Amino acid sequence: MLLARGGARVVLVDKARFPRDKACGDLVGPRALALLSSLGLEPPAGRSVGAMVALGPTGRRVVLPARAGLTYPDHGLAVSRYRFDGWLRDAAVAAGAEPIEGRVSTVQDDTVELDDGRRFTTQLVVGADGATSLIGSAAGLVDRAAVLWGFAYRAYVHQAVERPVIALWNDAPGQGFPGYGWIFPGESDVANVGLGVGLRADRSGAHRAVHQFHAFCRHLEQHQLLAGPVEDRPLGGWLKIGMVGTVAARGRVLLVGDAAGVVNPLQGEGIAPAVASAAAAAGAILANPGTAAAHYRQALAAGPGRFAEATAALHAAAIGGPPRRLALLTTALTAPVIGPAIAAPWALLWNDLVGGAPPGATTRAASLALRLSRTANGRTAVRRQLRRDLQGS
Ligand SMILES: Cc1cc2nc3c(=O)[nH]c(=O)nc-3n(C[C@H](O)[C@H](O)[C@H](O)COP(=O)(O)OP(=O)(O)OC[C@H]3O[C@@H](n4cnc5c(N)ncnc54)[C@H](O)[C@@H]3O)c2cc1C
Repeated sequence: MLLARGGARVVLVDKARFPRDKACGDLVGPRALALLSSLGLEPPAGRSVGAMVALGPTGRRVVLPARAGLTYPDHGLAVSRYRFDGWLRDAAVAAGAEPIEGRVSTVQDDTVELDDGRRFTTQLVVGADGATSLIGSAAGLVDRAAVLWGFAYRAYVHQAVERPVIALWNDAPGQGFPGYGWIFPGESDVANVGLGVGLRADRSGAHRAVHQFHAFCRHLEQHQLLAGPVEDRPLGGWLKIGMVGTVAARGRVLLVGDAAGVVNPLQGEGIAPAVASAAAAAGAILANPGTAAAHYRQALAAGPGRFAEATAALHAAAIGGPPRRLALLTTALTAPVIGPAIAAPWALLWNDLVGGAPPGATTRAASLALRLSRTANGRTAVRRQLRRDLQGS
C-alpha cells in the first residue's frame, strides 16, 4: 500500500482469494493501531480490548494494565483476520497496487514465477509470504536450523469474554508447557481460544499445541474461563520468532512480517511488527531503491532488532530449559505479592511498549529489565546468530 501510494508500480501477489481466514488470536495490539493511524489507515470496526489477565499455573490471576503511552493508545482491537486482512488488502489495491491471485513458485534474479507459468520482471521483491516464506528460502535468506520456530492453534467458541486471558500452563504436574494459551474476546459473542508452543529449531514438536489443545481447554473450563465446546475446525499456523535465523534483506529481496521473523519473542504478537517492518521496507525502497536492502536492515536493527536483542535469547532459554524451571518461573510471576508488584512493567515489557511509554517508575523498571536482559544474553549463541542476521552476513 505504501509503495503504491509512494508512486511505485506494485503487483500484489497472493495465493489466497481474499477475504481469507488466518490462524490468529485476532488481537491487533496498541502499537499496531498507532502505526496504522500514523499511516492514515482506520481499521475496520472491532472490539476495543484493554487490560489483560495472566492466569498462572496455580490458578492465580494477575491483571496486566493497559495504559496509554505517548505514542500508542490504551487499548488494542479484537477483529477477525478475515475482515482485517481483507480491509488491508483493499487499502493496497485502492492505493494502486495490482492484485494477482497466484502462488509464487520461484524467484530468480529479476524474475518472479507463479506455479501456473506467469512471470513478472521486477526491480525488487518484497516477500510478505509468512513464516514459511518461499521467497526467503529461494533467496537463501533463511537458515531453518537457526530459526526460533513456534506453532499455534486456535478455535472459536460462542461465548462472551470480557477481558483477554493469557494462561501460563503446566501440562503435567510441575512441568511448564513451553508456550502459553489464551482466550481472547472476539467480535460479538465469539471468543478466540488458542494454544501456542515454542519450538526453537525443531519444528517436529508443533504437534504438542494440537494434541494438548483439548486438555488446555479443560484447564480453562476448570477455571471458569471457558463455558462451552470449541468449534470443530481449529486452525494452526507457524510463527518465526525474534528475527533469529533470517537475514531480512539482501540484493533485490526484502522480507517483511513473519517472513522476516519479526514476531515478538515474549508473547507472539506479529501484527504490529509486521506493519512496522513493512513500513520500514517501503521507506527504504522509496528513498533508496538501489540500496534498499542495506537501509532496511539498518532500520530493523534500530527498531525490532533492539527488542529482539533483549528477548530472543530469553525466549530460547525459557522454552528450551527444564519444564520444572519454567513451571517455577511462571508460578513466581503470578504469585500473590510478586505478580501485582511487577504487573505494570511486565505489561510494558512483554508487549514491547517500553519505547513511547510515559516517563515514570514503571517505564524505568521495564527499561532496566530490557537493558539487563540485553547485557546478560550478549554472549549466547542465539544472540550471536541474531547479530549476524541483522548485519546481513
Ligand atoms: C494461532 C496464532 C495466533 C496469533 N495471534 C496473534 C494475535 O492475536 N495478535 C498478533 O499481533 N499476532 C498474532 N499472531 C501472529 C500473526 O498472525 C502474524 O505475525 C501475522 O499474520 C504476520 O503477517 P504476515 O502478513 O507477515 O504473514 P501472513 O499473515 O501469514 O500472510 C502471508 C500471506 O502470504 C501468502 N502466501 C504465502 N505463500 C505464498 C506464495 N508462495 N505465493 C503467494 N502467496 C503466498 C498467504 O496466502 C498469506 O496471505 C498469531 C499467529 C498464530 C499462528
